[in-house]
Amino acid sequence: MKKLSAFILAAALLLSFTACSSQQDTKAESADKTAKAEKAETTNRETIYQVALLQSLTQGYYDGIIKVSELKEHGDIGIGTFEGVNGEMIVLDGKVYQALGDGTVQKAADDETVPFSNVTFFDSDEKEEISKIKDINALKDILTKTVEKNGKNMFCFVKLSGEFEKMNVRSELKQKKPYKTLDKALATDQREFNYKNIKGTVVALYCPDYMDGLNTPGWHFHFISDDKEKGGHILELAFDKAEAEYDITPEFDMCLSDNGDFQKMELAKDVSGAIKKVETNED
Ligand SMILES: [Zn+2]
Repeated sequence: MKKLSAFILAAALLLSFTACSSQQDTKAESADKTAKAEKAETTNRETIYQVALLQSLTQGYYDGIIKVSELKEHGDIGIGTFEGVNGEMIVLDGKVYQALGDGTVQKAADDETVPFSNVTFFDSDEKEEISKIKDINALKDILTKTVEKNGKNMFCFVKLSGEFEKMNVRSELKQKKPYKTLDKALATDQREFNYKNIKGTVVALYCPDYMDGLNTPGWHFHFISDDKEKGGHILELAFDKAEAEYDITPEFDMCLSDNGDFQKMELAKDVSGAIKKVETNED
C-alpha cells in the first residue's frame, strides 16, 4: 500500500485460518499454471501469511506444512524456519534463503518444507533513517514508536538496510525425530556467529500484543548479508546508520496442518517463557 491515509480508512483486521493440505498435491499444482498466474495478479498484498504457530514450533512440531514454492505465492519478504528447524529462513525480494547451523547460507530449494513462517508482499508505507543504535532494545524502541504512530494493533514488516558494526546471529543444526522442544534443541544445537562491519538487511516482523497465543508480541529479527553468504536470527546488533522501510499490514491469514500429530497438540499451553528464551537467549 502506498498511501497510508487510504490504508487507515480501509483498515480492518481480517483473520482467517485454513488447513494446508496441498503439500502432496504436486500434480494439481503443476497442472494449472494459468489459474496460478491469475491468482498472483489478484493476490492481496496487505496480508500477513503465517504457517502454523510459533507455539507449535516451540513445542517441537518441526514437520513441514507447506513447500517453499507455495510460501513464495504468499509473500516476497519474511522470516521462518525449515523442516527439522534446519536453519533460519530469510525471505527477501522474493528469494528464500536458508541460514544453516554451520554458518553458511543457501537458497532454499522449492521442495524444501516449512513448519513455521510469516511472509507478506512488501510495499513501503513509510521510510526513515535510523542512527546511532547501540543494541537491539534501542532499535526496538525506535521501530515501535513508528509502528505505534500508525496503530499498534496492525502487523508490520520492516526492511532495514545498512552497514552493521555488530551483528550477532544464531542458527541451529537440523533436528532428528523424535523432535525435542525448541528450547531443548537450541540448548545443544544452537550455533552463534558474531560479525563486525557487515553490510546487509534486517528483516523484522512486528506482531501486536494480542498475538501471544499464535506468535510472539513485538519484534522478531532475521538478517541476511548483502553478499547472501551470512545470516540468521538476530540476538544482538549495533549500527551507526541504516534505512528503515515499513510495510504496515492490516490483514492476517494462517495455515494449519491437518496432520494427526499437529491436531493432538495442546496449543493453548503457555510456552511464553520458552518462546522468550528461544527468541532472545534470555531466561
Ligand atoms: Zn527467528
